[in-house]
Amino acid sequence: MSLFRANPNAMIKFLDLQAINHQYKAELEEACSRVINSGWYISGTEVGAFEQKFASYCGVKHCVGVANGLDALILIFRAYKELGQLHDGDEVLVPANTYIASILAISANNLVPVLIEPNEHSYNLDAGLLEQHLNPKTKAILAVHLYGQLADMPAIITFAKKHHLLVVEDAAQAHGASIGGKKAGNWGHAAGFSFYPGKNLGALGDAGAVTTNDAALATMVRSLGNYGSEVKYHNTFKGINSRLDELQAALLSVKLRHLDVEIERRRAIANAFLNGIKNPKIQLPYIEQQEQHVWHLFVIQVDNRATFQSYLTEKGIQTVIHYPIPPHKQKAYSELNKLSFPLTEKIHEQILSLPISPVLIDAEVQKIINIVNGY
Ligand SMILES: *Cc1c(COP(=O)(O)O)cnc(C)c1O
Repeated sequence: MSLFRANPNAMIKFLDLQAINHQYKAELEEACSRVINSGWYISGTEVGAFEQKFASYCGVKHCVGVANGLDALILIFRAYKELGQLHDGDEVLVPANTYIASILAISANNLVPVLIEPNEHSYNLDAGLLEQHLNPKTKAILAVHLYGQLADMPAIITFAKKHHLLVVEDAAQAHGASIGGKKAGNWGHAAGFSFYPGKNLGALGDAGAVTTNDAALATMVRSLGNYGSEVKYHNTFKGINSRLDELQAALLSVKLRHLDVEIERRRAIANAFLNGIKNPKIQLPYIEQQEQHVWHLFVIQVDNRATFQSYLTEKGIQTVIHYPIPPHKQKAYSELNKLSFPLTEKIHEQILSLPISPVLIDAEVQKIINIVNGY
């Protein structure tokens, strides 16, 4: 890593993917060569091996590799429709402050997203707010583990059982987060993961997966993602092409080996921020328990965010907003534009993500703390 070890006087990048992957350069190159030399590039042994390893990492029975995180979520809902467990017009409860992909996966299946204000501290679904959105059309909950913190799954599952709802996890930001030893991807009936390069477990291109303990759902997702066929050229469903490449699977097997060490580094940086940032203008993230959060993002809130962000840029710290516009204010969802979610809208105006990549060195972490405190 020494070649790419950042100079603490240089600009601190929000996320230095080159440095992250450089740590495993030899292993990644070895994986690439293996695939190149195998002569087999789609749905082969690399995908099978990664699926097994990731299923075991999450503690679930089945993992199905797909092309990206959005497809993972789309295919889960589509599979429940093919299995007769969901129907056109059914309502899905989902946090209003999520990334657009969660909402797209619902609407792409002719299901109706019912947006719910998040818990203002955890940014995740507030189980106590679910009941008031229930009606006979409510059939599922899409719980998003936003920023890397597992949602309050024990409460969400209890509620879902009582009302016979499906629970789907959007685990795109939460690989490895757990409560009581039970990991993201193993709480709901099914979960969608993204391995987009910037995620905590990132491929070197697009990739995603579905995890579940339900064999019928796994089989259906696999079939729908492979043209709706289980036997080549025999098409049972009008499927799509959404498969995980052998190459990405081989690279992900390398990255998965190092995931827990990277999570520990993220936690150490988060703890340094939580203990070191003492500026009353900055609202720090709230965390229930260490294991529940894998710190995909370190999100603070601040009034006059634009001023604070410019200040950090001037001081050499790159930051990003996750996300500047909530789904119900997006042009693509004009039918939702008239809705009002004051808390969600306030969050979107005040949040800012500080750099928290596992390759930050201690001097950089300290520099961020000092600069934030100097504002
Ligand atoms: C990244 C992300 C997705 C989508 O994943 P892609 O692989 O980019 O399609 C879905 N939901 C959330 C919360 C995400 O952060």
